[in-house]
Amino acid sequence: MRYKGMVIRPPSEAESYILQVTYGCSHNRCTFCPTYLDKPFMMRPAAEVFEDIELAGRTLPTVRRAFLADGNALVLSNRRLLPVLTALRQRFPRLNRIGSYANAPDILGRSHEELVQLRKALLSIIYIGLESGDNVVLERVNKGATVEEMVEAVRRAQDAGMKVSVIGLLGLGGTERSQEHAVATARAIAAMSPRYFSLLTLMVVPGTELWEEERRGDFALPSPLDLLGEMRIVVDHLTDLGGTIFRTNHASNYVALAGILSRDRERLLSAIDDCLGKGPPALRREWMRGL
Ligand code: SF4
Repeated sequence: MRYKGMVIRPPSEAESYILQVTYGCSHNRCTFCPTYLDKPFMMRPAAEVFEDIELAGRTLPTVRRAFLADGNALVLSNRRLLPVLTALRQRFPRLNRIGSYANAPDILGRSHEELVQLRKALLSIIYIGLESGDNVVLERVNKGATVEEMVEAVRRAQDAGMKVSVIGLLGLGGTERSQEHAVATARAIAAMSPRYFSLLTLMVVPGTELWEEERRGDFALPSPLDLLGEMRIVVDHLTDLGGTIFRTNHASNYVALAGILSRDRERLLSAIDDCLGKGPPALRREWMRGL
């Protein structure tokens, strides 16, 4: 297995075989995102991808899950992706799930039939970074998609039978739009009704445009307790969700929570209130946080 540059995957893919089919992110312009700043987007040569699958099939034959990296492997056409999915199924006989990050245009640019083709080929979970349900915030951070487009992308993926995991980013509205960001994010999640919803907490990283904005005084990150307050607003506004599984288990968060929103909302709120009441000692230490 050979990897180029930093490779990330969602926490829930910790046990998965990670296969790079692309390098970087085809958008790579979000002002807060440091992940692929040093790795320009490119498609990985197909021959190398298939060689890696062969190699991994020999060393990890019992793998049950695979994850396609990097930032949005779904940017590849079905013509390119389907042979990769076939090779994975052939080399890993116990494989029962393949996942990938996706940007909204990667879904919206496909027909229903093309999405179904991918799902039938075992690409059954995708991860979409909503980041914020507030279009003002999305435009400021140059997300490259509107809330409406992302809601539509999630619906279309779900209509094709895929599970969708949606990610929101606490703090992205700064102190200025903290409240709007939290309320609108809850509204977008309610419209999507995804299988999974995770919240991460923004860490402003040197080298990003957002870091420069912060230095100039054009952006201010809410305090840790205010970020937890944002989490409370999001959960408090998610009153009508079905079985969405909510998680804050990413290392960037100050508090790790998990539950099914329709069943555990009150428990989640009271856990957040407990931390808010105890103050900073109840929060994960800064040195323990990570991207
Ligand atoms: S779309 Fe995702 S991976 Fe790409 S720049 Fe934005 S946050 Fe980073």
